[in-house]
Amino acid sequence: MRDLTRRSLLGLGFGSLVLAACGSRSSTAAPRDALVPTTHIDDEDDLPPVPMTCTAVGTAANIEGPFYKRGAPHRSVLVDRSDAGERLRLTGVLQTTRCEPIGGATIDVWQANAAGDYDNDTYRFRGVLVTDKKGRYDLRTVVPGRYLNGARYRPAHIHIKVRAAGFSTLTTQLYFAGDPYNDGDPFIDDSLIMQHAVENEIRRARFDFVLPA
Ligand code: FE
Repeated sequence: MRDLTRRSLLGLGFGSLVLAACGSRSSTAAPRDALVPTTHIDDEDDLPPVPMTCTAVGTAANIEGPFYKRGAPHRSVLVDRSDAGERLRLTGVLQTTRCEPIGGATIDVWQANAAGDYDNDTYRFRGVLVTDKKGRYDLRTVVPGRYLNGARYRPAHIHIKVRAAGFSTLTTQLYFAGDPYNDGDPFIDDSLIMQHAVENEIRRARFDFVLPA
């Protein structure tokens, strides 16, 4: 697990937002199978800005694509200070179609870097988040770049696998509203397009995952 000291986070481009969110959280490493929540949401003031949604419709699945790699480290910060790209904070909750939060679940994330490249040799821009007892997660990364799929760019997207005990694995992708390549993409599902906005120089997005109860 990355050493998430206040000093190390300062260089990630998240500024005071990260410092406020980290609070006094320990940087003690934990075994990978311990399922320690990786969220940084430490107080109610830091809840995502969009009202929590509750829907009886499960999150749509989306194609896995060719670049999934098992075994990513448990971490919620995928970006290093040296990485290029616009910083992105993606937060939300995992819940059932009965609106019950699902804690202790894993959200396996993989994405291209800001240049549109996947790291298939190591685990750059890959990580497994663990939801807290309220089902919340908090991802710090960059806005992924677009890459060519044949003759056409795929819109920016983040790949996700949600695994929770007692539920089928959800494999999906999240997209960004306003991406000019959303229209006509052969794989996109409109329900997976996130609204987003810049706050304190960080792009912020919210997405709540819903698993059928
Ligand atoms: Fe992809």
